Amino acid sequence: GEKGLIVSFGEMLIDFVPTVSGVSLSESPGFLKAPGGAPANVAIAVSRLGGRAAFVGKLGDDDFGHMLAGILRKNGVVDQGINFDKEARTALAFVTLRSDGEREFMFYRNPSADMLLRPDELNLELIRSAKVFHYGSISLITEPCRSAHMKAMEVAKEAGALLSYDPNLREPLWPSHEEARTQIMSIWDKADIIKVSDVELEFLTEKQTIDDETAMSLWHPNLKLLLVTLGEKGCRYYTKNFHGSVETFHVDAVDTTGAGDSFVGALLKQIVDDQSVLEEEEGLRKVLRFANACGAITTTKKGAIPALPSNSEALSFLKD
Ligand code: ADP
Repeated sequence: GEKGLIVSFGEMLIDFVPTVSGVSLSESPGFLKAPGGAPANVAIAVSRLGGRAAFVGKLGDDDFGHMLAGILRKNGVVDQGINFDKEARTALAFVTLRSDGEREFMFYRNPSADMLLRPDELNLELIRSAKVFHYGSISLITEPCRSAHMKAMEVAKEAGALLSYDPNLREPLWPSHEEARTQIMSIWDKADIIKVSDVELEFLTEKQTIDDETAMSLWHPNLKLLLVTLGEKGCRYYTKNFHGSVETFHVDAVDTTGAGDSFVGALLKQIVDDQSVLEEEEGLRKVLRFANACGAITTTKKGAIPALPSNSEALSFLKD
């Protein structure tokens, strides 16, 4: 039969990344133009792996916006949920690669088109056809896209979709820590699947030790699967009936951007047509092994989208 549709909701933007680290963009001899935005990355990750994905969000009706829509289409992502704002511009991020490996961002978002998506602009037919509805947190920061986010989530849930949430905290975008935590937790108990990184787990629980107890303090009764990704240490999984960890693979990581999105895309692509693995540990471990492989592969190339593997790439990586 036809493969189930994964709809990914949220922002898409362009990162301008210096070609050398330790200097600001203005001091760099060159820069890369890297399309990104976690929800868009996830849609492309799914599609590259042979799944069916749609992106729902808003872009500027400008060169950058049309370039981004083109990238989604070229990667086979359904574009019927994309809106273009006549006035606001596409979101941009200007990155500094600090010499300690951390990234600093300066954003063009005052406001950018993604933040202006309105509830009445949503393609509800598309959203109702989702088997999995995936989203992040950036769209919760301001109105009207916060209302659009809430409505899309509700409509998808009512139509029977599995809700998948990656809070993908981008702290500098939020007015305060408290606001970020409050907004993220306000939609916490709606999701069926939640993926957090170890850093986000620390932020949300305000605890320093990242153990099972800390993770389980975020459990809610409607949750089917909680995942904590741990970079080169792989991931931990929690369900109502079992929990454990799955190791990832040894690679020479050059850029971890997009690893989490690759992981999520691989996870959703595998469960959209077989949700039984959510209740069966061996099956789930296989799914997570594949998701770890996709995350690991993504760290071996620069950028997020160019580094997302195809299904055959992922399979041959697992065979070696
Ligand atoms: P996020 O990008 O959300 O911070 P992580 O950095 O934890 O998430 O990465 C997501 C997944 O990608 C990990 O669970 C792991 O499977 C894989 N991964 C990330 N970094 C590495 C690495 N250095 N080596 C191998 N696998 C990695």
